[in-house]
Amino acid sequence: MPIDLSGQPRVGLGHWPTPLEDCPRLTEALGGPRILVKRDDVNGLGVGGNKLRKAEFLLGKALAEGADTVITFGAVQTNHGRQIAAACARLGLRCELVLTRSVPMSGEAYERSGNIALDGLYGAHVHVCDTPEQAGEVYDKVVAAARADGRKTATFPVGGSNGVGVLGYVAAVDELHTQLDGTKVNRIVVAVGSAGTAAGLAVGIALLDWPVVLDGQCISHTAGESLADIRRLAGEVSDVLGTPVGDLAHVQVGDGAVGPGYGVPTAEMWEALRLFARTEGITLDPVYSGKAAAAVVAGVRSGAIGADETVVFLHTGGLPGLFAYAPELVRSSENQP
Ligand SMILES: *Cc1c(COP(=O)(O)O)cnc(C)c1O
Repeated sequence: MPIDLSGQPRVGLGHWPTPLEDCPRLTEALGGPRILVKRDDVNGLGVGGNKLRKAEFLLGKALAEGADTVITFGAVQTNHGRQIAAACARLGLRCELVLTRSVPMSGEAYERSGNIALDGLYGAHVHVCDTPEQAGEVYDKVVAAARADGRKTATFPVGGSNGVGVLGYVAAVDELHTQLDGTKVNRIVVAVGSAGTAAGLAVGIALLDWPVVLDGQCISHTAGESLADIRRLAGEVSDVLGTPVGDLAHVQVGDGAVGPGYGVPTAEMWEALRLFARTEGITLDPVYSGKAAAAVVAGVRSGAIGADETVVFLHTGGLPGLFAYAPELVRSSENQP
């Protein structure tokens, strides 16, 4: 079935299609699978990243409903918040970011550089909270203040993951499928956080009846939790579309690359980051794409990913986050050649 999203409110924010790059030196270094990298890290606005696809639909709906103030949530180094801040700047909307210190990282780089520095640069109002309870209280105050000012708010969930935001990745499947122009692909690998990206891909693949495995790699939750999130969001987007989405049997979820937890670097992640950088000049991020790449490296080594496969690796962005981890990056390279 063709994917028709023309009835959904949408505001153009990014450059589409994003590039799809063959990576022969990476493929050679891995000793096998052909790797194509889908560069959603270079889609333009606000340093780029996967949240821009969701933002086109989330902000399209918010504008259609007359909102002038956007409120959203995340960790201190949220890429989603940074991209929403940039999009709000572009659209002339007020942006309120309610952030929670949820990652066991501290220091000047983590707390002041990277995404949070850009949030302020794009003019967002940033509220940093210590606990989820405090974030809830701050949210209530921000909503009350907007109401007192006569402003109309739109609230987006963590990661922009709801039935509307997920449409961005349903659309992305159509874009990728067209771009591949008949090239056979065995698997699409993507990092899974709030799961909206994977859910959109899963639904888009189902709608196209595309025989490809969606290989989701968890960066925060267990595989079971993430699969449940993907199913819930697939249900939400199918309600928005008014189309059933089937059983999602083509979705696999792994949690072997998470390590000690969300936002906590692992040696395998740094190794994968270096591999992509040194073979292809591609910069991954330490929280999401780096761990998904570590899972690819592990999969090739274990044989779970066959040497004859063609793999699309979705680069979801996150570059500013790398600078938040600059001291750890330097430390991780001290014993490297
Ligand atoms: C948010 C994010 C992801 C995960 O996307 P979800 O839709 O939240 O699962 C992956 N990579 C980067 C760089 C992100 O910022």
